[in-house]
Amino acid sequence: MKYLSKSLLLINLILLFSLPAFSQKAEKISQNPTFRVEPPSWWAGMKHPELQLLVYGKDIALTDVALEYPGVVLRKKIAVENPNYLFLDLELAPDVKPGSFEIAFIRERETVFTYNYYLREREPGSATRKGFDSGDVIYLLMPDRFANGDPANDNMPGMLEKADRNNPGGRHGGDIAGIRKNLDYISDLGMTAVWINPLLENNNAAWSYHGYAITDFYKVDPRFGTNDDYVALVKEAHEKGLKIIMDMIFNHCGINHWFINDLPMSNWIHQFPEFTKSNFRAEAITDPYASEYDRNKLLQGWFDTNMPDLDQRNPLVTEYLIQNSIWWIEFAGLSGIRLDTQPYPYKEMIAEWGKRVFNEYPDFNIVGEAWLNREGMNAYYQKDAIVGDGYNSYLPSITDFSMHGAMARAFTENDGWSEGMARLYYVLAQDFLWADPSKNLIFLDNHDVNRYFNNVGNDIDALKMALSFLLTTRGIPQIYYGTELLMDEPEHKGHGEIRKDFPGGWPGDAVNAFAREGRTNDQNEIFSYMQRLLKFRQHSLPVTRGKLLQFIPSDGLYVYFRQHEDQTVMVVLNNSKSAKKLNMTKYAEALKDYTTANDVISLQKLSLSKGLESKPRSAMVLELSR
Ligand code: CA
Repeated sequence: MKYLSKSLLLINLILLFSLPAFSQKAEKISQNPTFRVEPPSWWAGMKHPELQLLVYGKDIALTDVALEYPGVVLRKKIAVENPNYLFLDLELAPDVKPGSFEIAFIRERETVFTYNYYLREREPGSATRKGFDSGDVIYLLMPDRFANGDPANDNMPGMLEKADRNNPGGRHGGDIAGIRKNLDYISDLGMTAVWINPLLENNNAAWSYHGYAITDFYKVDPRFGTNDDYVALVKEAHEKGLKIIMDMIFNHCGINHWFINDLPMSNWIHQFPEFTKSNFRAEAITDPYASEYDRNKLLQGWFDTNMPDLDQRNPLVTEYLIQNSIWWIEFAGLSGIRLDTQPYPYKEMIAEWGKRVFNEYPDFNIVGEAWLNREGMNAYYQKDAIVGDGYNSYLPSITDFSMHGAMARAFTENDGWSEGMARLYYVLAQDFLWADPSKNLIFLDNHDVNRYFNNVGNDIDALKMALSFLLTTRGIPQIYYGTELLMDEPEHKGHGEIRKDFPGGWPGDAVNAFAREGRTNDQNEIFSYMQRLLKFRQHSLPVTRGKLLQFIPSDGLYVYFRQHEDQTVMVVLNNSKSAKKLNMTKYAEALKDYTTANDVISLQKLSLSKGLESKPRSAMVLELSR
């Protein structure tokens, strides 16, 4: 995750220097801390028998704690450096009943704080929920930039940054209401899952729109809506056949997070005498020759001046983050998590997290963002990795940046021994490095990189071939919002450029691209192209579950097959400028006794006995039949 360009950094440096040092701040705030308990509630009947509460309140560590509820035992009180914090280890019996109990904090026989703690009843099927998988296609959207369903929440009391739609790096007003209004659009396009960039509170003076500097881990940013709005969104999405994937960040939080303003203890975050940034060299984690200097800088350096780096070696931090993620899965009804910057938090914590999440939800899924451009270093981060030092992250899905790099060039280069579509071949030919490449998240672009249409120089044929490949090769495809509108901005002009507002998402927008009439002919052409492939994919067992059989690209042609039991899909990508007659005997092992082919894109029925001809710079996705 790259958040800021150079010009933005300067502004953030100014911000940093205008803040008082931690100790000064702590003193000021501790005079009147807001009483908090986190997680604010829990559930009866979870598999893990322990629950650790973080309690925050003025001199809370000096209190005695009393609670009484059948099946709940207070095992341990942990005081830390800052007396405004108290950690409570509770043990929950497997048969504890849903209900609520009072936790009393008593000082000199007087109750100074009370908290009514709820153990809620779990939704039926909560533990057996099914995560996203290769049967899904994920639509990635940035909530501030997708649709503004409620202009009344654009500016909210207490929130430091005000909406300014003219500022590419400012808040534009998109929200949960806007996503809810357009779920039908997403589902109609043929998507089955939505990854929404972070929705939790980012109460920062600037750059708060992207959501990666969280200031409250238990609260949706009021400019996006409320926690209940989020729950309603997930529920509605499920009714429309859409899974919701939450974006989570364990590496850092926002500088204005309430616990940063009054740190529980010095090793809650990594601190340095002067501002120290990460080296962003994630390679240092897998490098067998890495120096401690490089590795520590990667792990401990801050992502940016406004993003304090959490120390996940601290067991209290680890527990806080693990419980937070489980709380959201259970509270909101999630179908998946996308973990930001997987190599940057300590990998031991990630493994512990993975184990805990899958202990509660065996069929769930998590995709880790491991932004590494080489297959082996990518594969290291997947569950049951077969490369590396024996480390197991327990995260089933990993962002396939090797494939991303290959796709960026495959359809614009002339095909050669190792150029053009051969790049795709070489990535796939190294799939022996992965524990399970069918779970890799594959994508043409996302919120951090060039728009793919920019990569291919606004070449619609290249985009169509790329989409055909993305939606029929192995893995779990993810498509960034605006791809269907031919958004074409480069990353180097600033992240605001690759995160533009969806036209029609704001009241009064000149065009409404959510409707066919509001889109240009070119946009409708690519929209329909995607829709056809996406709808086909939803029901294609060979593409979503089948084996992959590929032929080395040659003569501008890349041909591969997806096979599931007696069903076969044949994909023909012709990246050359001339029409190609296929040598059918070459593919005999896959063509078997099939006689006809239905072209999913052109909707033509073709006879295989007459051979196949592929048009210049085009894709054919063929369902074979007898
Ligand atoms: Ca709004």
